[in-house]
Amino acid sequence: MRLFDTLTRELVPLEPVDGKSFRFYCCGPTVYGPAHIGNFRTFVMQDVLRRGLELGGMKTKHVRNITDVDDKTIRDSVAAGRTLENFTAEWRDKFHVDCEALNCLKPQIEPSAAKHVPEQIAMIEDLVEKGHAYASDDGSVYFKISSFAEYGKLSRLETRELDLGHTQNERANSDEYDKDNAADFVLWKSRREEDGENFWESPWGQGRPGWHLECSAMILKYLGETFDLHGGGEDLIFPHHENELAQSKCSCGGEFARHWFHAAHLLVSGKKMSKSSGTLYTLSDLAEEGWSAMEVRYVLIGSNYRKQLNFTMESLHAAREALGKLAKAASGQKVPGYRELCKGGDLGVFAGAFEKLNEDLNTAGALGELFGNLKAASSEADWRGFFTVLASLGLVLPEAEKAEVPAEIEELARLRWEARQSKDWAASDRYRDELATKGWVVKDGREGYEVVPS
Ligand code: AMP
Ligand code: ZN
Repeated sequence: MRLFDTLTRELVPLEPVDGKSFRFYCCGPTVYGPAHIGNFRTFVMQDVLRRGLELGGMKTKHVRNITDVDDKTIRDSVAAGRTLENFTAEWRDKFHVDCEALNCLKPQIEPSAAKHVPEQIAMIEDLVEKGHAYASDDGSVYFKISSFAEYGKLSRLETRELDLGHTQNERANSDEYDKDNAADFVLWKSRREEDGENFWESPWGQGRPGWHLECSAMILKYLGETFDLHGGGEDLIFPHHENELAQSKCSCGGEFARHWFHAAHLLVSGKKMSKSSGTLYTLSDLAEEGWSAMEVRYVLIGSNYRKQLNFTMESLHAAREALGKLAKAASGQKVPGYRELCKGGDLGVFAGAFEKLNEDLNTAGALGELFGNLKAASSEADWRGFFTVLASLGLVLPEAEKAEVPAEIEELARLRWEARQSKDWAASDRYRDELATKGWVVKDGREGYEVVPS
């Protein structure tokens, strides 16, 4: 797989630095409300990347955090009169429900920022000790960007744009700001009245971590000093990722992320989504209008991740039609399980479609190849190829989902069940193995059994 790297602006081959598994980190959701479909464009593209790697035979380790302590989560939990933990748990759970509906694989590790405050304090102490951070009179701590010569390299920020020697605090003390006011950024925020009960003890007094720090601290804990790839939406390049990179390199040494993966934004009517103009959509909003999460996913992967995507209702209609067409073509075909597909093999007429995906996640190109070769699909390899491409895009087809169980398989499953009832374990194992070699597994439940593709 080759991917465009934001740091070098080149296509780079993706290989695990440890030679074992591809370890990557994605900045997760800020849980103060439902995620919108723009957020999901980024999360779905990260999911497609992971699926592409795994279906290409690579092991992965995917870490995605939950931002549950920052300006916005605190502001809204205080306004709602709820504890930060109780408030953010609701939106984290809603995020998980949406991810599942969109068929996104769960990250192997999903750490919460609020549960990693000691790790963040330790990193600040280290940065202060090494001369990269300083405490101000009010007990806040800032990262000194002039202490890191490479500051601005990722986002190609010119030195003249940097406001050296000043703190963001002098303006707004906000977690978010743009290139025009790049300045020393806050690592630790001293306790303020509007924070309510949300504060921690630290060597600099009571306060809470600044937003940029959490990812650096959790990355060090779960992935170490050097890992394979870091991802997020394009808005995170500056300042968030630039700041993460500075903190981590100054504190830990190491390379930090070897590659950077940023998805361009989803727009509505050519503009940034906004609540006030009625253009901010969540999955629930679209479900109310009768659109399935899979139709939304199809729209989100319908164009290249490096180009902004203009979301329209027409694109949902087109997605419905396209999914219907694929389902019709594949009806009656057995859908192999994801793990089975990860073992690889000949992809028949769809080898080209999978290649498209492996060249900078060309999802649109892969879909084009998928449709272009539908009529030619006939052999077992062709269908394996078809379902490999679908699995890498994370698409589940409405009809093809329920694989028809051939009579021969039904019979083997029945014989196995009977053998089990009469406690003939040897025979039962034999039938189970025979089913396995034919690509099926039996799931035993309280009421009986079910046979599904392995
Ligand atoms: P947040 O919950 O605001 O921290 O954002 C979660 C992820 O969604 C981040 O990777 C953002 O960069 C990304 N994101 C935010 N808005 C959009 C958008 N309109 N299109 C694509 N990705 C977005
Ligand atoms: Zn982050």
